[in-house]
Amino acid sequence: MAELPPTSRIPVARPFFGPEEELAVAEVLRTGWVTQGPQVIAFEKEFAEFVGSPYACAVSSCTAALHIALLALGVGQGDEVITASHSFIATANAIRYSGATPVFVDIDPSTFNLTGLLIEAAITSRTRAILCVHQLGMPCDLEAIAGIARKRGIGLIEDAACAIGSEVRSRRGWERIGRPWGDIACFSFHPRKLVTTGDGGMLTTRNPEFDHRFRALRQHGMSTSDLKRHESAKVAVETYDTVGYNYRMTDIQAAVGRAQLRRLPAILEERRAQAGWYRELFVETPVILPTEPEWARSNWQSFCVRLPEGVSQVSVMQSLLDAGISTRRGVMCAHREPAYLDTELRFPLPESERAQDQGLILPLFPGLTRRQISSVVDAVLKACRP
Ligand SMILES: *Cc1c(COP(=O)(O)O)cnc(C)c1O
Repeated sequence: MAELPPTSRIPVARPFFGPEEELAVAEVLRTGWVTQGPQVIAFEKEFAEFVGSPYACAVSSCTAALHIALLALGVGQGDEVITASHSFIATANAIRYSGATPVFVDIDPSTFNLTGLLIEAAITSRTRAILCVHQLGMPCDLEAIAGIARKRGIGLIEDAACAIGSEVRSRRGWERIGRPWGDIACFSFHPRKLVTTGDGGMLTTRNPEFDHRFRALRQHGMSTSDLKRHESAKVAVETYDTVGYNYRMTDIQAAVGRAQLRRLPAILEERRAQAGWYRELFVETPVILPTEPEWARSNWQSFCVRLPEGVSQVSVMQSLLDAGISTRRGVMCAHREPAYLDTELRFPLPESERAQDQGLILPLFPGLTRRQISSVVDAVLKACRP
């Protein structure tokens, strides 16, 4: 495994690459076809199989995926989309790209997720879609949320950026996130997530019409793909049917993604063990642990604890940094950022703000040992002591 720049500090996250990824990149370069092509097609097929979705479409990032998911649902100017403020800024930004207005609702403090009740209270005649977030890999209550979307006739997009390999239980048994309960699920391959292609994203859906639209929108609205034109024995002339984007994934990225996907079952198993160690070592301490509802299995993309009231987040983070341990504050809230100060707030968001201010994301990545986790827990507890 290639080394990162030397530091003795324990990072918050670290991607996991090996000779398989290196070889995959080298093989793509040798073929001479580096943009969206056969590797992307193969990655889409393997990803669809992994999550159990009939269709998967690769794009350049999850942000791009969220944008074209909203467009595929017909979301635009004058529409409202219900979502969490407590999410990475890309969730709200994608709604803004579409021209619609984000309507922020609060979260359940035990899962950091939207709930059916909170969503239902925010529906108006202008609500066009719900954009729910499986925050930090913890699945939303999809049964409740999908039920509301269906009953009220509005679209449901899952921001599954963090949730590859997470599972929810349905009447059919355990299912991976991405066999979408709603209309579309969007994934990220940013290095902070479990599977990375440097940057990259994926849309899954059961609806062939949507899949067709994604493919046009990611490629300038073109009626045919570069690959089809390249392979055609007859002169192929494309048309541009809508204003699309350049949201393509490259074949170099897709080849890395395929190798990463093969590692995923082992990565998931390791992360679940690591989260279990955190749980065990924090038991009966004032630090509040994330809760996994009995119908959910997180992939533990991040392990975010909550500091006891009255303990300063910044001072805990500083004393951990002094001890050689990197952490991150709780997930941000879009409504507190300058770019969103002009967004009307219809609901107070106390739990979202508390989650940001008292949340602490602890190191979790492949290779992190039980001994290291134990030193993180000791350092957190020491820093929390008055
Ligand atoms: C990482 C993340 C995104 C953005 O993903 P990119 O692939 O970096 O565009 C969107 N939403 C959430 C919840 C995320 O964590």
